[in-house]
Amino acid sequence: MAEVLVYVDHVDGAVRKPTLELLTLARRIGDPVAVALGAGAANTAATLAEHGAAKVLTDEAAEYADYLVVPKVDALQAAVEAVSPAAVLVPSSAEAKEIAARLALRIGSGVITDAVDVEAGDEGPVATQSVFAASYSTKTRVSKGTPVITVKPNSAPVEAAPAAGTVEALSVTFSAQATGTKVTGRTPRESTGRPELTEAAIVVSGGRGVNGSENFAIIEALADSLGAAVGASRAAVDAGWYPHTNQVGQTGKSVSPQLYIANGISGAIQHRAGMQTSKTIVAVNKDAEAPIFDLVDYGVVGDLFEIVPQLTEEIKTRKG
Ligand code: FAD
Repeated sequence: MAEVLVYVDHVDGAVRKPTLELLTLARRIGDPVAVALGAGAANTAATLAEHGAAKVLTDEAAEYADYLVVPKVDALQAAVEAVSPAAVLVPSSAEAKEIAARLALRIGSGVITDAVDVEAGDEGPVATQSVFAASYSTKTRVSKGTPVITVKPNSAPVEAAPAAGTVEALSVTFSAQATGTKVTGRTPRESTGRPELTEAAIVVSGGRGVNGSENFAIIEALADSLGAAVGASRAAVDAGWYPHTNQVGQTGKSVSPQLYIANGISGAIQHRAGMQTSKTIVAVNKDAEAPIFDLVDYGVVGDLFEIVPQLTEEIKTRKG
């Protein structure tokens, strides 16, 4: 069976969930070979093996630090040359998408971005993309070379699939470009203590109905009572009430949590594109005709300034 390279997104050896989802997809088209780079790379092996990685190629060179992409492209190119895989799967994060595009150029193939599914095809792996705000699905194949496919988070389940997970050192020769850039400073973002939006099991979002940045405190309070991430509609982001990194939708992030609570959000198609695959959807909106009610499991018609604080208190009481 052909091997499939999976680029591992990890923080000091802790593998992030989208990588485990990639392993599920990789197993559909071949034997997954994971590529883990940077500090703690070797520590990823046990988790990757539990989820189907037959082999884990690691390199902990200092060059991978600081989010510079070229050393990682060099490493993935070396891995492609060593393994001749049927495909390279990477998560659809901002960093990994840049790596994917550069890698495809280097190896003379093509890149498919933001796939929501990958399957085996007669002429090579076929990726499904969701287009026009999820109104259509397209099936795409790279016709030349090793396809590089970026996959959106929550596109596949995380599955236990014990495999050997044999660790092998990846031998990488860095290109001149890799050493041509260096990081001169960085400003870490203040941590909210909340889960990452695309990985959260529960997302609580606010829209134009929240009516001001200060009012997002009630959305955050509900999120914190549930251990949830906070999302926002584009209207709320464009108004400057919440950061773009929290935007859900076509031009924001795609989320697929167990529970999505939309507050003061009308349910425009571009917002739905980023959340309609959530398992259970709840909406609070004072307009009973709001389109969001067409896709909810539970709808509350009412003023969010009354309902959301009551809900938060009720959850806190029940949690004790
Ligand atoms: P509105 O549509 O104005 O809805 C506000 C809702 O709040 C209304 O339904 C109202 O009844 C309700 N409300 C008001 N006050 C209260 C209250 N006190 N209590 C309860 N309910 C209340 N949008 C996104 O969200 N994400 C995207 O990624 C995105 N990408 C886009 C890309 C393109 C190319 C385009 C053209 C648009 C995009 N949009 C996106 C914008 C989208 O079309 C909508 O304009 C946007 O989603 C509306 O946000 P909203 O629902 O918060 O605001």
